[in-house]
Amino acid sequence: MSKILVQKFGGTSVGDPERIKRVANRIKSYYEKGYQLVVVVSAMGHTTDELVDLAGKISQNPPKREMDMLLSTGEQVSIALLAMALHEVQVPAKSFTGAQVNILTDSNHSNARIEAIDTKRLTAELDNKQVCIVAGFQGIDENQNITTLGRGGSDTTAVALAAALKAKECEIYTDVDGVYTTDPNKVEKARKLNQISYDEMLELASLGAGVLHSRSVEFAKKYGVVIHVKSSFNYNEGTKVVSENEIMEKITVTGVTLKSDDARMTVADIPDKPGIAAEIFLALAEKKINIDVIVQSTGRDKTNTIAFTLPVAAIPEAKSTLEALTKKWGAGSVSTDDSIAIVSAVGVGMKSHTGVAASMFKALADNNINIEMISTSEIKISCVIAKDRGKDALRLVHSVFGLDKPA
Ligand code: ASP
Ligand code: MG
Repeated sequence: MSKILVQKFGGTSVGDPERIKRVANRIKSYYEKGYQLVVVVSAMGHTTDELVDLAGKISQNPPKREMDMLLSTGEQVSIALLAMALHEVQVPAKSFTGAQVNILTDSNHSNARIEAIDTKRLTAELDNKQVCIVAGFQGIDENQNITTLGRGGSDTTAVALAAALKAKECEIYTDVDGVYTTDPNKVEKARKLNQISYDEMLELASLGAGVLHSRSVEFAKKYGVVIHVKSSFNYNEGTKVVSENEIMEKITVTGVTLKSDDARMTVADIPDKPGIAAEIFLALAEKKINIDVIVQSTGRDKTNTIAFTLPVAAIPEAKSTLEALTKKWGAGSVSTDDSIAIVSAVGVGMKSHTGVAASMFKALADNNINIEMISTSEIKISCVIAKDRGKDALRLVHSVFGLDKPA
């Protein structure tokens, strides 16, 4: 079994000097147990947001290369401070930027993908008994330009390093205890999961349960890295994100989410003929607008209605894009409604159970909550409902699948 452990600490965990010292003490306790440690950190607190604001004071449209140069400095501060804190507690440690440990990415500034990691330097330092502190969220392209991996990308750095080093596990420390059956701030009876599969985690992440950067979970799935989400404020066991066949207890629904920042856009009275839907969604995809639930009514009198959900923030751009299309077709109208919410149930157990959707619909119906749109996948059921019933719906669906009770 590998002695290498990757630990990642987020911005809150290293938010001030006291917290950095606390993180150093935690690392020390693992170091003393004989682990070879690679520690990935994010920028302190809200540093990255502040750097984004700062750039905005100079330019409304800064070159992406320079933006990456700027944002990467946040992590450079926290790695150095953490290395110093480790020296204070007599643990040998060195900090490294992404470039120094050869995290090679493509050149897609602000959203680069890791292409390769040459671990020679890290392995040598580890063998030399050093704790290696690596800046998260950054890499370098083939022309030595600094790149960043997209907001929240430090998780991906950590998982990628764990994969490259064949580490025992990748621990991700955050300000929550782990992954919950639903948002504990909205449903009191939410409980922490011991395990969750990669696919469930990806669904939950895309539904707004923002514990992990989605790409980090994709990476972990691809390379079979076990991610252990833990709190940096206590020593409790967290939640392990693992492959489906390692899940011990097969339950039907693992988690329930509520998304309240989506709106519905309806394109009515459009021609009922091949290519129309393709045109709509290609145009939206080109603008990188994320669509979730789509419903098309059965055509009548050679016209159709297509409705879909999208982030509220994308409404202006989507609206002008679609109005250009209706103008071109000489038919159709575009309307929006932001008084909706999407409640979803996620679980790999759905694949082998029948009646899951029916239970969810009945729980909503019994409480007089109207379902306005439905979408399903192999492991997810989503219902669009009125926004003002969102929290009720979340609580009901959470309870109907028995998630209120201890596992
Ligand atoms: N500091 C970066 C951000 O705020 C990366 C990270 O925290 O994972 O997005
Ligand atoms: Mg994060």
